[in-house]
Amino acid sequence: MSDKPEKFIDENGLRLDGRQINEIRQMKIKIGVLSRADGSCYLEWGNNKILVAVYGPRELHPRRLQKADSALIRYRYNMAAFSVEERIRPGPSRRSIEISKVSREAFEPVIMTHLYPGAVIDVFAEVLQADAGTRTAAINAASVALADAGIPMKGLVSACAVGKVDGQLVLDLNKAEDNYGQADLPVAMTQDGEITLLQMDGDMTQEEFRKALEMCKEGCRQILEMQKEALKAKFADDTALPVPDE
Ligand code: UDP
Repeated sequence: MSDKPEKFIDENGLRLDGRQINEIRQMKIKIGVLSRADGSCYLEWGNNKILVAVYGPRELHPRRLQKADSALIRYRYNMAAFSVEERIRPGPSRRSIEISKVSREAFEPVIMTHLYPGAVIDVFAEVLQADAGTRTAAINAASVALADAGIPMKGLVSACAVGKVDGQLVLDLNKAEDNYGQADLPVAMTQDGEITLLQMDGDMTQEEFRKALEMCKEGCRQILEMQKEALKAKFADDTALPVPDE
C-alpha cells in the first residue's frame, strides 16, 4: 500500500501544498517560552512543532569529562512518541543519535567554547509534531535558544533542505516530498554561508547539487532574517522594561 502522489508539481509549477518550488513553509518563532531554561525557543515550520531548551554554560559533572580548554557542547534531538503517525518508541534510536551528533557539529564552529573551560552547554531539542525537516527545524530553533541563553556565538546558524521531486529541485520538503522524493539534502550554515551540516539521501547530478546548494543558501538567508527578527522583538521588549530604582 502506498499513498504516493502521482505528481508532485502541477501544470502551474505549484507543489501539492500550493507552494512555489523555491518557497519555504511558514515559520513562527517564539523565544523564552520556558522559565527554567537559560534559553528556549518554540518553533513552528509548516506542520513541524519543535521546542528547544538550552542550559549553561554550567560546570560539567562528573569532572573527568571536563575539557581543560573549552566547554563541551551536548545536543539531544528527541522525537516525542506522539509526534508522528506511527508511535515512536521512547529513548534514543540510531536515527536520533545520528541527528544529535550532526546537529551538535553544526554548532561547534560558531559557539565560542574556549571562553568556558570545564563547562557544558546542553541543548535539548524536542520534536512535538513532525512533518519532514525536523532536524533543520530543530537547528533553527536551537540557534535562537542559544542566543536567548546569552551563549557567545560568532553568528546564528540556519538550516533548510532541498530535495528533488518529478525530476525538479524543490526547497524545504514537505512530508510527501520527503517520503517519496528522489533526493533530500539538509544543509545548515552560518550567517557567513559556511556550511556546518550537509547530508544527502537519494541522488542528484553535480549540476543539480550545485543548484540545490544555492537554493539552500537562499532558504537559510530568509530563515536568518526571521531568527534575527524574533530575537530583536524579544530583546527590544526586554530593554523597554522600566529600570528598577537604585
Ligand atoms: N518520520 C516518522 N517516523 C520516524 C522518523 C521520521 O514518521 O521514526 C517522519 C517525520 O515526519 C519526519 C520525516 O519522516 O519529519 C522525515 O524524516 P527524516 O529522517 O528525513 O528527518 P527530518 O526530515 O525530519 O529531519
